[in-house]
Amino acid sequence: MTQQNDLSYGKALEYWADIPATIDGVLGGFGFISDLDIAGSKLFLKSLFSLKDPPASNIALDCGAGIGRITKHLLLPYFQSVDVIEPDEKFLNTITEFVGEERIKLGNLYNVGLQEFKPDKKYDIIWNQWVLGHLTDEDLVSFLKYCRNALTQNGIIVVKENVTSSGELERDDKDSSVTRSLIQFIKIFKIANLKRIKQCKQTNFPNGIYPVYMFALVPNNIEELKSKNHVKLEN
Ligand code: SAH
Repeated sequence: MTQQNDLSYGKALEYWADIPATIDGVLGGFGFISDLDIAGSKLFLKSLFSLKDPPASNIALDCGAGIGRITKHLLLPYFQSVDVIEPDEKFLNTITEFVGEERIKLGNLYNVGLQEFKPDKKYDIIWNQWVLGHLTDEDLVSFLKYCRNALTQNGIIVVKENVTSSGELERDDKDSSVTRSLIQFIKIFKIANLKRIKQCKQTNFPNGIYPVYMFALVPNNIEELKSKNHVKLEN
């Protein structure tokens, strides 16, 4: 696992507190990639709805929602209701207005960090994008385990994050976050007993930014059984 004892949740919140509640703000000056990002996510989400056992479209959770960019443009068009988690109060208070007409479909707005969140209902899709770099490995594993237990039947966790092209962990002291490598993500998913059923690289993003990957994750019941029963199962 990676060394990241210096990640500070307080410092990250101070950073975001100074960032304007706009698309350009939450995307670190890359507001112009939002439409491409949403288009790529729509294709990915549609591919999940085309699975043999697709998730339902009742309720989704947007984790580290910012001003509700993903909630508004991706999730609300597909789900009856969307809950959000966002620790920055100013961003959270912007979501309802930003979402506009569809605001009646907003459910709970949780004003906490993911490391403190304990779901009290189940979700068809749990969407995590451009936020998990704020969590330590330990908190990320524990958060993913909570998510795994908060899925409806056929529910799916989606992770859409930057990954390093160097294959090494890269730190950003400015906002107290890390960018993980593909291998680090895969390790973390495994420890959280999650199985990747789809993985896809976002296309058409400009050069010079990190590659962005989308992962669809479901509970790995075989792993669960193994650790519960301490038995070695044959493949
Ligand atoms: N996912 C959104 C916002 C990305 S900006 C989008 O793609 O549009 C990153 C967001 O993560 C910010 O809103 C910031 O406040 C939030 N954040 C930072 N640390 C967090 C934490 N520990 N838990 C949850 N959200 C966090």
